Amino acid sequence: MAINRFEAVAESTKRTALALEDHGRRSELFGTNVFNEERMLQYLTKEAYKRVNDAILSGSKIDRKIADQVAEAMKAWAISMGATHYTHWFQPLTGATAEKHDAFFDLIPDGRAVEKFGGSQLVQQEPDASSFPSGGIRNTFEARGYTAWDPTSPAFVYGSTLCIPTVFVSYTGEALDNKAPLLRALHAIDIAATNVAKYFDKNVSKVYATLGWEQEYFLVDKALANSRPDLILTGRTLVGHLPAKGQQLDDHYFGVIPTRAINFMSDLEKQCLTLGIPIKTRHNEVAPNQFELAPVYEEANLAVDHNLLLMDVMEKVADRHRLKVLFHEKPFAGINGSGKHNNWSLATDTGVNLLSPGSTPMKNLQFLTFFVNTIKAVDTYESLLRSSIASASNDYRLGANEAPPAILSVFIGTQLSNVLDELEGVSKGKLSPEEKTELKLNVVGKIPEILLDNTDRNRTSPFAFTGNKFEMRGVGSKTNCAKPMTVLNTIVAKQLIDFKKEVDVLINKKNLKKDEAVFNILREYIKSSKRIRFDGDGYSLEWEKEAAKRKLSNNKNTPSALQVLTSVESLKLFDDLEVMSKVEVEARKEVELETFILQTQIEGRVFNELVYNYILPATVAYQNKLIQNVIGLKEIYGAAHKKLSESRLTLIEQISEHLVALKGLTDDMTNARKSANGIKDVNKKAFAYGDNVKPYFEKIRYHSDKLEQLVEDASWPLAKYHELLYIK
Ligand code: ADP
Ligand code: MG
Repeated sequence: MAINRFEAVAESTKRTALALEDHGRRSELFGTNVFNEERMLQYLTKEAYKRVNDAILSGSKIDRKIADQVAEAMKAWAISMGATHYTHWFQPLTGATAEKHDAFFDLIPDGRAVEKFGGSQLVQQEPDASSFPSGGIRNTFEARGYTAWDPTSPAFVYGSTLCIPTVFVSYTGEALDNKAPLLRALHAIDIAATNVAKYFDKNVSKVYATLGWEQEYFLVDKALANSRPDLILTGRTLVGHLPAKGQQLDDHYFGVIPTRAINFMSDLEKQCLTLGIPIKTRHNEVAPNQFELAPVYEEANLAVDHNLLLMDVMEKVADRHRLKVLFHEKPFAGINGSGKHNNWSLATDTGVNLLSPGSTPMKNLQFLTFFVNTIKAVDTYESLLRSSIASASNDYRLGANEAPPAILSVFIGTQLSNVLDELEGVSKGKLSPEEKTELKLNVVGKIPEILLDNTDRNRTSPFAFTGNKFEMRGVGSKTNCAKPMTVLNTIVAKQLIDFKKEVDVLINKKNLKKDEAVFNILREYIKSSKRIRFDGDGYSLEWEKEAAKRKLSNNKNTPSALQVLTSVESLKLFDDLEVMSKVEVEARKEVELETFILQTQIEGRVFNELVYNYILPATVAYQNKLIQNVIGLKEIYGAAHKKLSESRLTLIEQISEHLVALKGLTDDMTNARKSANGIKDVNKKAFAYGDNVKPYFEKIRYHSDKLEQLVEDASWPLAKYHELLYIK
């Protein structure tokens, strides 16, 4: 049972934990709990170290003998760190992480107890997978799945457990998780981008996608959160009237962080550093109680793992501070929601950021190549990229006039727009020497090395170039970044492959010089991808109209956003790049649709509970108080009471009107839910939930929020926004 609001309010003002003390410098904490390069050198034989490194760099296989050695070393290190158990840590399609702990402890045949962990346990495990969503893959193929070690993300000790990052696949090899497709997409972009980067520098032999996420979240007092079944069961407040002071004053952004939050953050940062998560910045966000933290960017797969680990650590550390972290994209209506910007770029093994303008025209041509190809990829696959961030909870945020709109567009700023405009004017085919000089010196040569301060940052853009990286802003705060990163890297990889083919044709068949060929193809791309570029206000109605004219997709809810996943083009794309087979994509779509249905269904049920078990009884009780008062007045004053009880009579009527509407809408919603539940086809069912059930939520909420204003404070059962939003 949820605790009572007033007990919760009293509880919330109690003194909470102080931050753990700092011992020494923060940098000394970094990676102390990670089986990283340093530990490997210390614990592994030279040969094993080399083989693990080869596996990390080139994806080569690690044989059994070496795996045994690595396992032995990991075990020795982990036990020295106090670990008693190990787990294969993986990312089922539910979006979170999963783990199954096994003890190192084992009995050998003569009955003695030993600490055991061998290569086979390191490399492969069979979790009881039947309860993870698989979108029918396991039913169709095999009944079981297994987890397999991902040596590119280092193992770490968390609490008393050695955690080994793994992929989760079915016995027939289909991915059942979010990591396996990501690794394949990262491989695809590595190959494609390396081939293109070689036009500019022969020494490049590997390209990494880099990711720097920014995690937004709300902190709420734990006792208060526990008093609200909606927060506990759905992660958001389904009802609740805006407080008198919301974010109107804009005084929270970069304001002083409340002490209680600082204590939490300080502990969080220390724990993150030991786990190798390079947390760097923290600040308040726009809304009260809303915060953000961001790390130094990393290789994308590692960054994804670190974000998932972070979310877990945040929950545990918050508990010590009697706080609850809300990761939901829209926990409070009328107050800014939370996102997780994904800053993305490509880096070579020669230490060059391919999306960073350089100091020479040649470097800038390289920059322009990757820059324009990314824009072109987003233009071609805008709806697919949109699908990668679709979820029931993110639907409350995308397009809600604060977060990026559901329409994808690219912001590049005036300076770079001018450069692209000039390039567009370059003549076809061979260039005259004058044209070449002009291009090199005055167009390409003039891109300033540091654009960071010059790109006026358009906060309303969902995909903005911010000087040396693109920033994808529509990603939900709860979303596993692996999903958008898989799609983004796949589409850019595909684009770069096409680009290389086209350039090679011009070089080999038309005898063009390399830079001429590159200019020629870029010019065509700039022309054909114009519609995706938009520097104006992404929240405006005019943009919605303009985007429709440009034939950009505008899928406002998850079921419609997901449809593109199984289009002929998408299936071919994923298949050609060996990122996902048709079966895998279809399974994923089904899981996403099912998750959408489930989450909406849960919200519907919680609405029922809130209305029938909380709001109705409390409101009726208060109304009875008013009625008693009117009866009393009548007893004393007879007919003259009417004038005296006028205000209460009006209130009684107003309450009744809202009660009737509240109950009526709730029942209608339940009926809509029942008829949706009768639909067998997952796709149709998701649409039924999105189109017929969800629209009731707003309406029910409206009447509840009106009642919250009418009913006396002492009778209102649910913690109010002003209590939830200002941690004491
Ligand atoms: P803002 O909030 O203004 O968008 P932040 O400084 O909070 O900016 O976040 C910027 C993020 O971008 C950080 O996580 C940073 O590590 C990341 N970043 C910087 N350079 C790159 C890059 N080359 N690739 C990926 N991410 C990057
Ligand atoms: Mg940002």
